[in-house]
Amino acid sequence: MFYCDTRDPSVKVSFKEAVLSGMNSSTGGLYVPRLIPKLPESFLFKNPPPSFRDIAFMAAKPFVEDDISDKDLTSIIADAYPFSAPVVPVNPVTYILELFHGPTCAFKDFGARFMARVMSFFNKNEKDLLHILVATSGDTGSAVGSAFYGVEGIDVTILYPAGKISPLQEKQLSTFDGNVRSLAVEGTFDDCQKLVKTAFTDVELRKKLRLSSANSINISRLLPQAFYYIYGSLSILERSRHDNRIDNPKLIAVVPSGNFGNLTSGLIAKEMGAPIAGFVAATNSNHTVPDWLETGEYTPRPSVQTLSNAMDVGAPSNYERMCAMYSIEEIRSIMAGFWVDDRETLMAIRSCNDNTGYIIDPHGAVGWKAWQDIRNGAMADVLEGESPAAGKTGLRCTAATAPEWGQDCVKGNCLGMILETAHPAKFGETVRQAVGREPVMPARLERVLLLPDKSVPMSPDYSEFRSWLEANL
Ligand SMILES: *Cc1c(COP(=O)(O)O)cnc(C)c1O
Repeated sequence: MFYCDTRDPSVKVSFKEAVLSGMNSSTGGLYVPRLIPKLPESFLFKNPPPSFRDIAFMAAKPFVEDDISDKDLTSIIADAYPFSAPVVPVNPVTYILELFHGPTCAFKDFGARFMARVMSFFNKNEKDLLHILVATSGDTGSAVGSAFYGVEGIDVTILYPAGKISPLQEKQLSTFDGNVRSLAVEGTFDDCQKLVKTAFTDVELRKKLRLSSANSINISRLLPQAFYYIYGSLSILERSRHDNRIDNPKLIAVVPSGNFGNLTSGLIAKEMGAPIAGFVAATNSNHTVPDWLETGEYTPRPSVQTLSNAMDVGAPSNYERMCAMYSIEEIRSIMAGFWVDDRETLMAIRSCNDNTGYIIDPHGAVGWKAWQDIRNGAMADVLEGESPAAGKTGLRCTAATAPEWGQDCVKGNCLGMILETAHPAKFGETVRQAVGREPVMPARLERVLLLPDKSVPMSPDYSEFRSWLEANL
């Protein structure tokens, strides 16, 4: 399998090169697999369903087999995933796929831990250090820092927007030591991402330092996220026979999104044969992608700060990958766009708790709200020709642009798989505002609160960032 560049289809690189370089520094393009292989149905639909690790192995193999042997892949997966992605049913047609059981309590552990092990595998025989640069809107940095912590031959520099993430997230990021450092940038996530992107396209700098990325632009973070879509969809369809009487239900993955890495992984999983009929791209007030689905015009903008801050992205990188995979018509046929504001996010945390007893975090809550509205009338209204008012929150499509599964949903034939992307205790204060009490904090989170802050303040100006890199790496 080789990988193509989203901006120059004539470029072809190996998995190893795509992983180590992160993106194509000469075109600024991202790597996508040339084709997405289908998993055999005899594997997917066997009885009992395959385990998470079996799925991880089978799904990863075709993408990496030119560079990693089956034996090495097996140990990479075993080492990366001592945890899995449990499915929690909260009503007969709604399932929560909990993605926070890794060490940093967010879904990004799935991608980061696989990536760290793959990079360290490829870096075994190199004599120069490999420097990972990563911009984070909250959870990426801690997942990446934790995944690479203590890995020989690699060091990590994390950039995060100072004061724009939750205090606990900031604590998680600023308390690394050893081969992991963090920079508190006076700016937004987009400023952080721009610094990293500029460094990658800085030819002079790259002559001096071996750089690699760890954002969701790196293909080795994206591929493993497909594992839990496959696992979750198979588990849900298996369970649902006992939970409801829907014949042949259509499964809709509801994905709280920011940079759209998670959702792009879902598209890969669907192409591989996961039984997923469609997607909801659920965002906060950073609704660039729902607007694009609605109007066909893609207008990136500066990000705005919200309660679901890990989704505060105004110019999502993976838009380019979605476009490399599908035309806008194809995307609209499977995907609906939905967005909510902060007030609705708080109300959604409360309504989820009132209705089901489940405590959901502010990111998952965006997905919960989208699914509740879509199945309780929003999709029916749209299909009856009632278009949403311009600039309003909610389901952003018309009868003409609604996804193919819209009708099934109105008839009650759909199941929702809401991706719960973080543990609610990471956003304890917001959850308390919504439901009146804080979620119980897992021990692995409580531990970081006791560690000292070691982050370095940084200006959003590239030349200062560059000088710091040259002086400190
Ligand atoms: C990163 C993150 C998201 C957004 O994921 P993307 O892949 O950037 O769309 C959503 N929720 C949480 C908790 C996150 O950490």
